[in-house]
Amino acid sequence: MTDIAFACACGTLKGVLHEVSPTSVCHLMCYCKDCRAFARHMGHAEALEPGGGSPIVQVLPARIEITEGAAQIACLRLSPKGLHRWYAACCKTPLANTPGSARIPVAGMWRPLFDRTDAFGPVVAYGFTKAALPGGPRKDRGLSRMLGGLLKRSLAAYLNGTARQSPFFDATGAPVVAPQVISKEARKAAYAD
Ligand SMILES: [Zn+2]
Ligand SMILES: [Zn+2]
Repeated sequence: MTDIAFACACGTLKGVLHEVSPTSVCHLMCYCKDCRAFARHMGHAEALEPGGGSPIVQVLPARIEITEGAAQIACLRLSPKGLHRWYAACCKTPLANTPGSARIPVAGMWRPLFDRTDAFGPVVAYGFTKAALPGGPRKDRGLSRMLGGLLKRSLAAYLNGTARQSPFFDATGAPVVAPQVISKEARKAAYAD
């Protein structure tokens, strides 16, 4: 287990991800259109992998500590029911996606936030590959492992009382900033593969 520093592209928002090991996180590549649209809308499409994959590290939110620039945290949804997609407002670097409720203790962190990625181990899961662009993988893999890890981490977090801790939700479970829903025009541009 090790702690790893992360920062937004401009360095205003900084943090530490605690207790990292290849089994305490799930290192995955998501090829869904939503993750890709979000990266594109934020102006960070250059960080996508071949085939339009979003490099994500799924973690327990309680392990994320924002040490500087927490006031930059902002949130966007790609549809009124979409995931909460958190980003640093200073330079629009994606931070993480989460469900709309703090009751489900998972955050998919944007891997380019990290300089060092070796502690995550290799990518073990590929999701939504049907939506991959040319050059991406054709077959999903590792998803049962991903779900298994998610369940295991969630259970452990509920048992040790850390399930509701998150830099993105307050003690009452409300988002720390009000999520904005993307405009129709911006949405159209963001989804243009
Ligand atoms: Zn920034
Ligand atoms: Zn996705």
